[in-house]
Amino acid sequence: MHKVLIIGAGGVGGVVAHKCAKNPDVFGEILLASRTKSRCDAIAASVKELTGRDIATAAVDADDVPQTVALIKEFGPELVINVALPYQDLTIMDACLETGVHYMDTANYEPRDEAKFEYKWQWAYRERFEKAGLMALMGSGFDPGVTNVFCAHARDKLLDSIETIDILDCNGGEHGHAFATNFNPEINIREITQKGKYWERGEWKEIEAMSQSMDFDFPEVGVRKAYLLYHEELESLVQHIPGLQRIRFWMTFGESYIKHLEVLQNVGMTSIEPIQFQGREVIPIEFLKALLPDPASLAANYTGKTSIGCLVKGKKDGADKTVFVYNTCDHAETYKEVRAQAVSYTTGVPATVGAEMMLTGQWMRPGVWHMEQFDSAPFLKRLGESGLPWHVREIEG
Ligand code: NDP
Repeated sequence: MHKVLIIGAGGVGGVVAHKCAKNPDVFGEILLASRTKSRCDAIAASVKELTGRDIATAAVDADDVPQTVALIKEFGPELVINVALPYQDLTIMDACLETGVHYMDTANYEPRDEAKFEYKWQWAYRERFEKAGLMALMGSGFDPGVTNVFCAHARDKLLDSIETIDILDCNGGEHGHAFATNFNPEINIREITQKGKYWERGEWKEIEAMSQSMDFDFPEVGVRKAYLLYHEELESLVQHIPGLQRIRFWMTFGESYIKHLEVLQNVGMTSIEPIQFQGREVIPIEFLKALLPDPASLAANYTGKTSIGCLVKGKKDGADKTVFVYNTCDHAETYKEVRAQAVSYTTGVPATVGAEMMLTGQWMRPGVWHMEQFDSAPFLKRLGESGLPWHVREIEG
């Protein structure tokens, strides 16, 4: 039985808290901490109602290393599951190093003043984690996370060699709002409005945001238009898939979503540059976040499914072979189970499984590591058992 500290009580934190509570053999004692304690308390009440378990709650500002260190020392966890925002990754890693505790997250560190989606800041912690005998697991959500493991599974089990990978992410759900984002709006909008980028034959190629798209038939959703975006898992996958010639990431958006985003962008509402307004400094995208629905609040009336997978082309026994490794997840079903929509669920479940891999020693190695650097088999087994069954479809031609 292990002790874990979960930091972040948003849509994803709620799922992680419920899922850890449902697995008492691994997660013996749980503390959920976030900036706003009342959000932790509301999740703890739901955990009690749905699982019968008590979890502890606390307030913490994870931007503040001494405060985070004090909380870790007081509770004494083996692992911190960071599901706050990417801005807190480094301060939480610092606090883990100071207290001798393992670390994991679901998104790469982002400086507040520039949208980068790069791992260089966290990779700089490698030696310190190694020397301290501690492990930091990067990006144990769905994408990054499960998508990295799907690629590892294709590399290690399904194909002899890999030529190209296309990661395809579709949310075929309906939440009934004119415009809303499925996870933290600031991070989501930053991701979509930056230039698109993919990797081909050793080089990164940049394109204008949302300028390249293709139709894809997503299992259990149907044909949707997906746009080429840069996504952080590409940066580690190019290092860990030998022989890879090209890797791209695609995400679907409806026409109405794109129209809203275009207008917001044209008027400057998605900017991360501070402006002066009535004598005070305002960051437009942070103000926009305050106006948009809280992603966790979308859950109650969400219908439809997410359908996310990796289309991997390569060779098997000398012949061409293409596989699509994927998962689909139903918004209404996840709401019934843990009061969350499927985007939070598909992130929170892999975070819980990643934590289990570390705590049970199946994935435990000092240093800073990515999901595809471990054996995919135990993770994928537990992923299916934990509510995210996955499938392999062979694609002809
Ligand atoms: P939310 O915005 O719903 O929740 C974020 C939580 O973090 C809130 O409870 C917030 O507190 C808390 N928080 C923010 N700043 C601090 C701080 N300084 N100290 C302590 N707590 C803080 O986000 P989501 O739950 O949707 O997303 C959580 C993470 O998961 C993000 O990093 C996101 O990028 C990542 N993600 C990863 C995905 C993947 O597939 N890999 C997919 C979706 C999300 P407060 O309530 O006070 O604001």
